[in-house]
Amino acid sequence: MPTSNGLCPFATQKPITDSGNFEVGRNGQRVKAVVLHIGEGPLTAFFPTFNNPARKASAHFTVGKQGEIEQYVSINDTAWANGLKWDNGVWRNPRGIEVTPKWGGLIPAVNPNQYTISIEHEGFFGEPWTEPMYLANLKLLQWIRNETELEYVRGETLIGHNDFDTVDRPNCPGPNCPFDRMIADLQTGPSGRDARRAALIAGANRMGVPLNDQSALAKFALGSNLGIPLSDEFQFQVDNVPYLGQVWSLAVVYVKMGDWGNVKRT
Ligand SMILES: [Zn+2]
Repeated sequence: MPTSNGLCPFATQKPITDSGNFEVGRNGQRVKAVVLHIGEGPLTAFFPTFNNPARKASAHFTVGKQGEIEQYVSINDTAWANGLKWDNGVWRNPRGIEVTPKWGGLIPAVNPNQYTISIEHEGFFGEPWTEPMYLANLKLLQWIRNETELEYVRGETLIGHNDFDTVDRPNCPGPNCPFDRMIADLQTGPSGRDARRAALIAGANRMGVPLNDQSALAKFALGSNLGIPLSDEFQFQVDNVPYLGQVWSLAVVYVKMGDWGNVKRT
């Protein structure tokens, strides 16, 4: 669930409101991966293209060779950068050609634009990335990680356009895209997921409730976004059958003792 407006505070905001080349929201999908592209053109070409209703294309961001970062679409919304169409069990690219995506994260029949964030990059696939472009891209990936709780794994949560469209985009982002260096540089520092877990435990402890986030009740409550625990786990009985319960800020969660996979909420 988005907790912010999805706009990067250090990006230059260029909303493509004239074109409508995006969809508001993500149709209930969560972000599963960041997709890197090479734009095959200068930075100045992206906004006019994405803001042109005839082009039917957009990305969330472009990173320029001097380290510029432009944002066109909130990461809470769906940009049109790596769409595939589902056609009776096969994926087709925008030209209607059948493709065999390498990415294992695809959800059958659901357009991957709805669960990805796309970053374009200035220049051509045969050119090496400039250092300012590399560093700006890295900073942007770190911001996205904090917003989404993604953990970056090459080929899983950090991928290229060619992982979708093997026919028309084999060189997007191309061999000069420094994936390995990015993954290495992204290893340092706490992730957004680590920070969220630490904040929950610290917040619960502050309220006087020790939180074991590996318990069945806590896992269920955390996965259901029920806020923070307001009580310890406690036992109660229904018709002499023992239950375990816990008060969370948005509901009481409970489970029949021993039936740990079947937690319910009020
Ligand atoms: Zn691309």
